[in-house]
Amino acid sequence: MELKFIVDNMLGRLAKWLRIAGYDTLYFNSIEDDKLIDIALKENRIILTRDTRLIKRKLVKNYILINNDFWNNQLKELSENIKLDLSSNILTRCVFCNDILSQIEKEKVINKVPPYVFETQNIFLSCPKCERIFWQGTHFAEIKKVLNNIIPSS
Ligand SMILES: [Zn+2]
Repeated sequence: MELKFIVDNMLGRLAKWLRIAGYDTLYFNSIEDDKLIDIALKENRIILTRDTRLIKRKLVKNYILINNDFWNNQLKELSENIKLDLSSNILTRCVFCNDILSQIEKEKVINKVPPYVFETQNIFLSCPKCERIFWQGTHFAEIKKVLNNIIPSS
C-alpha cells in the first residue's frame, strides 16, 4: 500500500522533503489536533508528530513519533521505522501544494522559465494547483545526492 502522511506543524521541513521524494504528505501551518486526527483516519494517513501528548489520544493509532530536531535526521529516523524510497519518485509532486505534477509542453513554458533553462531543458512539469513550473536542473542532482546520503538507494 502507498504510504501517505499527515505531519504536525513542528515538522514543516520534513514534510517538504517527503514531498520532494514524492510522498503524499499533508502539512498545515496551523491545525487543531482533532482535525488532524480526523483527516488521518479518513484518508488512512500516518501521523508524523513530535507531540507526545497527541499520540496518547485514543484515536491516534497509526503514528510515528519523531525525536530528532533536524529534517535530515528526522528523515533518517523515519526510515528506521518504515521502508522509504527516496530515489524513485523525486520531482513528481509539488513541494508547495502536494499535488501530482504533470508534464507540460515545452512551448508553453517559454515565458515562465529563465531563457537558459528553456534552452537547456526539454522536460517540464507543472503543478495543476499553483501552476509553478519544475524541471530537472542542476538542483535535481543536488537533491538526489542529499537524499541518497540520508538513505542510500540499493
Ligand atoms: Zn503547486
